[in-house]
Order: sequence, then C-alpha cells, then structure tokens
Amino acid sequence: MRRNRLKAVVSLILVMILCPTCVVPFAAAQTDVTAQPIDIKNPDFIRGMDVSSVIALEKSGVVFRNESGRTEDVFKILADNGVNYIRVRVWNDPYSADGRGYGGGNNDVNTAAQIGKRAAGYGMKLLVDFHYSDFWADPGKQKAPKRWSGMSLDEKCTALYNYTAASLKTIRDAGAHIGMVQIGNETTQGIAGENSWQNMAKLYNAGSQAVRDFSRDTLVVIHYTNPENSYIKTLADFLHDCQVDYDVFATSYYPCWHGSLSNLTEVLDYAAQKYNKFAMVCETSYPYTLADSDGHGNTIAEGNNNTGENMLWDFTPQGQADEVRAVMNAVNAVEGGKGLGMFYWEGAWISVGDTTGLSGDAYTKRLEQNKQLWERDGSGWAASASAEYDPDDAGVWYGGSAVDNQAFFLPDGTALPSLRVFRDVLGEGSYRLGDADGSGVVDIIDVACIQRKCANITTKVADNILLHGDVDGNGLSLIDATILQRYLVGTGLPYPIGIWMQGE
Ligand code: CA
Repeated sequence: MRRNRLKAVVSLILVMILCPTCVVPFAAAQTDVTAQPIDIKNPDFIRGMDVSSVIALEKSGVVFRNESGRTEDVFKILADNGVNYIRVRVWNDPYSADGRGYGGGNNDVNTAAQIGKRAAGYGMKLLVDFHYSDFWADPGKQKAPKRWSGMSLDEKCTALYNYTAASLKTIRDAGAHIGMVQIGNETTQGIAGENSWQNMAKLYNAGSQAVRDFSRDTLVVIHYTNPENSYIKTLADFLHDCQVDYDVFATSYYPCWHGSLSNLTEVLDYAAQKYNKFAMVCETSYPYTLADSDGHGNTIAEGNNNTGENMLWDFTPQGQADEVRAVMNAVNAVEGGKGLGMFYWEGAWISVGDTTGLSGDAYTKRLEQNKQLWERDGSGWAASASAEYDPDDAGVWYGGSAVDNQAFFLPDGTALPSLRVFRDVLGEGSYRLGDADGSGVVDIIDVACIQRKCANITTKVADNILLHGDVDGNGLSLIDATILQRYLVGTGLPYPIGIWMQGE
C-alpha cells in the first residue's frame, strides 16, 4: 500500500511537470485504492449509504459519473460498486408558511418515495429514517413538527402512529422496498419534543406499532449517538425496562467524536447479546480531502475536527476506504452475526458549483451562484426559510454542503476509487445475484442460461456460477428465470437482484 501510494505521488508529480497549467486534484490521481476482504458473519450484511440530498442536488444541476467519467444514475453507480442498501431521512413538513423549503434536501415523504423507488430499481432496500420533526433532529434538538405543537402525549402518539403508517404506505406504493424503519433520528436526548424516558418509550412504541402493522418483515430501528459515553448502554437498558418493541440497536459513529472502534464493537455487542437485538451503525463518514469545494465550510477541515486519537486514516481516498472497511469490520465483530452492517452518511452530497482553485471575484461570483441554488432547490444543509422553524441554528448558519469532502464523488460528480470498498470487502468470488453466466451484469443472457440448465441442455457456464441465478434462494429452477424476466422489464419482485454478494 505504501509503495502504491508513492507510485501515485510520483505519477502526479510527473503529470504536473509535463502539464504545468493543469490543476490535477490529488484524489483523481489516486486510482489504486485497495481494501482487504472481511469474513462476513451475516449473509445480508448491510453496506449501505444515505443519499438523502441527491434529488435536490440533481435539481441544482449536479450530474454523477462512474469512475471512468461516464454520466450514469447515481443509484446505478452505487450498486455497481457494491452498495446494497439506501437510507433516507424524512421530515414531516420542511416548508415555511409561504411554501419555501427549509433545505437539507427538502426531504419530505414524497422525496423519500422517489429515492426509495430509484434504489429499488437497482435491487437496493430502503431504510426510512423518520426524524419526527420538520427539520434536522439530532442530540442537540428534537423539536416536534409544527402541526404537533400543543398536543398532549397521547395525541402526539396517535399523530406519530398515523404519520408513520401513511408515510410508509406512500413510500411502498411508489415502488420502494422498505427493509427497516428508524423511529427517530439520533434520539439520545429525546424524540419529537419529549425527553423523559417514559414519554419517549410511548412514542417509540407508537411508531413501532405502525411498522408492525405495515409489515412483519420490516425491522424497527432505534438510533442513538455517542458510543464513547457509557450512557448509551443505559439507553439500551432503558429500552428494555420500558418494554420498547424494536429489533435493531443503532448508533452513529464519527471517529472524530465517537471513541475507538473496539469500544464501538463492545457497545453494540452489549445491546445485541444482553437484549437479543441486532446492532448496526446508522451513520459514519470520513474525508478523502480536507479541501472545501462549494464555499460552505466543512465539518472536518484543517484545524476543525481533523485531529484526535481515532482519526486514524489519511485524508485520501485510500484513507476514506480504510475507515469504511474498519467500521464494517467493527460491526461484523459483534458476536453471533448480530452486527447487521453500516450506513455511510451522505456519500454523494457534493458541491453544486465547484469553487476549487477560484479566488477573488471569480470565487465570490461562484459562491453567489451556489447560494441561489441552495435557496432555490434545498441542495445545501439549510436554506434561509428554515429560520421560521429553527431560528438559532439553521436560520443563522444556513448554506451549502458541510460534507462535500466526505463524499465518494469529486466536485464534478466523478466517482472516487474509494467507492469500490463497498464491493472489495466481499473479496474474490463475489458475484451479483442473478448473474447466472458470471458476466458481471444481470441481463437476458442469464435468463437463457437458467432455462438451458433447467432443460438439461449443456452450457459452458460452470454449475457454481449458474447457481448465482438462484434469486429466490431455494435452488435453481425456471421460477428464477421468470423472476429475472420480470426484473428486466421493470416489475421486479423484492429480491436483491443485481446486488453484490459474498461468494463461498
Ligand atoms: Ca463545503
């Protein structure tokens, strides 16, 4: 790895000598990102990504490209690189009285439905992350939606149940495959304006009941933060003591704030073993560079959150991939296959207008253009309209992306080589479900291969490769061929067709 990095640096220097006027971003020159495989305990291990802002970004003119530079649907690029699950946040009503969006993607339920549908088109399930707020909910704020203000606890429970039920139906009817639902986002200090354990438990159970009534196959997630603080174990105890009905104990893990990876495993293991739950990381991220590219300062930058004993990796695409692999490995270490996996947070929230290399009037002009896009489309973390709901934070500090340096895409939308980590952890022998001829894509040839095999006609494809066409998981049959045909005409059944899986 060290030698390869040296090689990349030498070739970068050569390019700069040969072409002195070129501005070559370091990230683009680094193409040799590698990640060691992980021996995954849970066959459905989640290698997920939150891309809640992409619809707003596309409205602002952002296009995504694969690593070769070809423009493609960002969901296809993610699936091709091994991502198997998408997470999306949902706000009840992120709009002002005069109809202006609060920003942060303006993620109402219809936006979530669009994202879920597009994810399903590439075989990816959806984690629906209800904030039960009209804008950002986190450990510092858990403000109830505008329409819920003044409600009694019982009224709020009913509103939460009804909102959850109606939203899940909308998202499913759009074509999404909902695998998990979060009852609240980072609810360490409260949920929907309530912060006593007793009231929180009632709200959790109202949401949980809505999910149970929606589908018995959908997992209920409770999401906390700060695994470095032993209080998170107290929260696991509280969920048990207050008889909260849930399946997955989840935490955010940002290495600049959230302690060591060994501690992360220990905390997840505590909830998983003591209370017989699944455990996972709902959010993590890591910068591939410390540079900003949209004129809005980043959460991690030079002199800001970039040091600390758990910031173990370089600020390069390789370092970013290393962090992802390390977090996956820490979750996989939970005993008994109860570590469900991880989600990377907002890995596509790139600049709406690249400010790299600009200065003076050119920089100011580009920043003004970006501000107009953030306001118009909600493609920044917050817009000025959010002042109505969150006057002290978003209403003051609104602007662009604070995580464009933690994305898996360059400012021009081109995928970084680090994105491949989501597949590379599967190791050799990984395959796409449905790819019966081993070509790397799922297409009509796979259908023909399965049909020939089932008719005892000899094929050139080895039996172990043909088995990758067993999409329903009960042996290769003509039913698999039928399912694949339906998938190819766009009426896919809820099988993870096209998803990269770990081989034997
Ligand atoms: Ca930024």
